[in-house]
Amino acid sequence: MKKFRWASRCFWLGALWLSFGNSVFAVDAIQIQAATDRQLQPAITALQTWVAIPSVTDATDSHRADKTRLLLDIVAEAKRLGFQARLVADQQVAIIDFDQQEPVIGILVHADVVPAGEEAGWQHPPFSGLLVDGAVWGRGAADDKGPIAATLYALAAIKEMGIKLAGGVRVIVGTSEENMRWNDFVAVGKLGLVPAQGWTADAAFPVVHAEKSFINAVVSFTDSRPLSAPLLDDWAGGTAPNSIPARATVWVRRDGDLVASWMTAYSELNPRVGFAIEEKQDGVQVTALGKAGHGSRPDSGVNAITHLARMLTAGAKGGNFAGSFTDGSAAGRTLQFLSKIIGGATDGGSLGIDRTHSVMGSTTVNVGQVVTDSEGVHSYLNIRGPIGLSTAQIEAALVEAVAPLSGRVDVVAAMDPLWVDPDDPFVQELVSSYRRWVDDDRAPLSIGGTTYAKAFPGYVAFGMGFLDEHLPVHAPNERLPVELLQKGIAIYVDAILTTVGVREASQ
Ligand SMILES: [Zn+2]
Repeated sequence: MKKFRWASRCFWLGALWLSFGNSVFAVDAIQIQAATDRQLQPAITALQTWVAIPSVTDATDSHRADKTRLLLDIVAEAKRLGFQARLVADQQVAIIDFDQQEPVIGILVHADVVPAGEEAGWQHPPFSGLLVDGAVWGRGAADDKGPIAATLYALAAIKEMGIKLAGGVRVIVGTSEENMRWNDFVAVGKLGLVPAQGWTADAAFPVVHAEKSFINAVVSFTDSRPLSAPLLDDWAGGTAPNSIPARATVWVRRDGDLVASWMTAYSELNPRVGFAIEEKQDGVQVTALGKAGHGSRPDSGVNAITHLARMLTAGAKGGNFAGSFTDGSAAGRTLQFLSKIIGGATDGGSLGIDRTHSVMGSTTVNVGQVVTDSEGVHSYLNIRGPIGLSTAQIEAALVEAVAPLSGRVDVVAAMDPLWVDPDDPFVQELVSSYRRWVDDDRAPLSIGGTTYAKAFPGYVAFGMGFLDEHLPVHAPNERLPVELLQKGIAIYVDAILTTVGVREASQ
């Protein structure tokens, strides 16, 4: 059913030949391109509408209503395009079916987004969905609402071409991908709604065959009793464990001029981090300013939380205040944890979990968020490692490291690495679909990110990031160039026709 052969090695000069039973169908590249072009404007409009709905995943899931509103809009649009669509799993997930056939391919996408962060860092408001300079701007434009639009309008293009597929295609739109708990997909899995094979449109082309492990852990230091005169208090910073924090603050009971001299000394050695200081309640509030980025690539940004901790520790040491922040408080022990146990290492070396795999690369450690509450101080970590380093080993290393400081480790999410043979026939089918549209012969990729592909066996990540396009994702100024949306639609049309097969094609 999925067998086909190419009329020509160069698709651009020929046609995509798809056989079903005794029939062979030709789908022309020009035909696919034309159908894609006709779907582009509605896809842009839908994407703009969806970006404007703040479907943010945060710690308390405070945007649940926005997520439902977005899913309802996606379902309405899918129905308008002639598909069957419904919400399942307590309105957490939208299911869209191309037709009434049993689905043989599943396409997993997510409608939730990480928080926008500091609005000042955006050239256009994060939930504007504005079309400026040939791109749709806003949080989620690329991750992952653009791929939702590309997938849906790829199906619309197939339908518009009058093609009947040899099997069903099911799009599954989740809403809690970014919290890595994936309660949405756990529910869909239990309902038995997931086809045996498919892809998630939430990473990069040509295809992702390996993903590192993923651990979100909270390291907590609690106060048994509040200190009457703490030296440090009110740690705060970051927005999510898997984002590099661009801003962090802490209150310090020290003379402002002294702390300012520490800041200057530290900045001379670390020019990428900035500091600000403000007098506050017989002490100073210190702010570190770094650079946001994705937590899977801690070196791509500047971590405001760990730099703040290291600046204070280095300053106290150089200014003969060695040990002066070690008052046993939760805030003081957090400082020790962040500056000494984590320090400047983002490869896990300080925790003894640094591993390197020839294809998958090295361990990464990101401190994404720090929060002070009535119980104490909580540091949110995101750690990823290649095959050969299990999530159990990572947890054990953390527990051992914080034990001397009486710290507690809570693992919130843990997923072992994903590895699919890059020569797997399904993987190769996806690669060929991509290569017919993009002149890029890179081999399948290995990434540090975790996608829904880990949720079910038989899935890999396929698109929609492109070669040489470094779109800001999980950072300010996220946007999706319209040209990439267009390419994405064409590639997904090709991949669906190739992997599902065609039963009937009108000429
Ligand atoms: Zn995503």
